Amino acid sequence: MRAVVVGAGIAGLVAARQLGLAGWEVDLCEQSPAPRPDGYMMDFFGPGVGAAERIGLYSRLAAVAYHVEAIEYIDVAGRLRSSLAYHTFARVAGGKVLSLPRPDMERAALAALTDDVAPGRVRVRYGAPVSQVWDDEAGVRVSVEGSPGVTLTADVLIGADGIHSGVRAQVFGPKAQYFRFLGMRAAAFIVTEPLLNARFRDRFVLTDTIDRMAGFYSLRSNQVAALMVYRDAAGETGDERSRSPRERLRREFAGLGDAVDRVLELCPEHPYDDAVAQIIMPGWQKGRTVLVGDACGAVSLLAGQGGSLAIAGAALLGDILGPVASPKGVGPAIAEFERFWRPVVEDAQTAGRRIASSFLPRNHVQRFLRRWIISATHVPGIDRMVARRIVGKIAK
Ligand SMILES: Cc1cc2nc3c(=O)[nH]c(=O)nc-3n(C[C@H](O)[C@H](O)[C@H](O)COP(=O)(O)OP(=O)(O)OC[C@H]3O[C@@H](n4cnc5c(N)ncnc54)[C@H](O)[C@@H]3O)c2cc1C
Repeated sequence: MRAVVVGAGIAGLVAARQLGLAGWEVDLCEQSPAPRPDGYMMDFFGPGVGAAERIGLYSRLAAVAYHVEAIEYIDVAGRLRSSLAYHTFARVAGGKVLSLPRPDMERAALAALTDDVAPGRVRVRYGAPVSQVWDDEAGVRVSVEGSPGVTLTADVLIGADGIHSGVRAQVFGPKAQYFRFLGMRAAAFIVTEPLLNARFRDRFVLTDTIDRMAGFYSLRSNQVAALMVYRDAAGETGDERSRSPRERLRREFAGLGDAVDRVLELCPEHPYDDAVAQIIMPGWQKGRTVLVGDACGAVSLLAGQGGSLAIAGAALLGDILGPVASPKGVGPAIAEFERFWRPVVEDAQTAGRRIASSFLPRNHVQRFLRRWIISATHVPGIDRMVARRIVGKIAK
């Protein structure tokens, strides 16, 4: 059996590995020339934890994870306004929470693929953007650009190409039908800054600000991961995307304190900067094409479980599709995957939308309320309530 997987993010890497282990021939096509170095700090908890343990990925993730003691909110003068002990958050999230940058998570998944799958079974093609797909009586065909370009045929096409999925657009219809903008944008980038690195070590530090929030975490090698979330009514219009993201961030985040100023001084010209959104679709499979991860069920960073769901969903798809031994079995298998997995993703999406309304305080009153709620976390019982609000509903 042959599969083409489009996108070597977390979902694509795990799906390709699991099918390779089950004996499939897999082409994994990724448009980036190499594993993407850019990213943000991710909390890994929820259903991906059990799935990662089961497929033998968890220890690799744990080996590169960071230690976090607290989530702290600081004001524009750098003073601590409120904080939450990380162990409270971890307890509510099911005890096992790993914090690691997105590129480290992807590198661990890639290493697990290349180390564990028999050589030649999964061809990982970087610098291989998929430009066109056909899914008809003749089977699945995929046109891959590159030097040289190539057309691949397969028994199943797995679109793991993220929130702006081209496979989804070609097989299921235009993005606008499925893209649900949550009123914010998020930017993320990594800078090398030894002084800030020392200042923020072992904590998630967030600005206690209105309509905008900058967050920092110290990485190894004197680096700092920065995350910036800001309200944006325009959403994802062509006009917004054509402006320089760095200039826009400097404008949006002016006056939020010396740490914000410093990371924006060092910000690359084109940092990751995208709409905070969910993908909501009536169906994830059509013919011999199935979507997985953000491509069909993005929950947004607000739900904090996108990476976790990407791993768990891709592992489940591998479990169900792996034993299929004839092209006739593909349709029923991918339908079963969707039937089983959709309710889990929908629950997490509901939690993400609920959090969207309170994630960025709109005024001084809302900000005061957040400070007050967090300061109440030293009261037994309240700490769990607050952490649960931050974590959202943990998918099972
Ligand atoms: C700022 C931010 C913070 C987040 N924080 C967390 C968190 O704390 N915890 C958590 O669990 N989740 C978090 N998430 C969500 C998480 O990052 C995603 O849900 C997860 O990475 C989705 O993985 P994926 O493999 O489905 O998609 P992606 O990671 O988007 O991978 C898609 C891949 O497809 C490739 N691709 C696209 N088009 C093509 C094409 N035509 N041909 C070939 N390749 C193509 C892309 O280059 C990319 O490598 C966060 C997200 C953001 C934006």
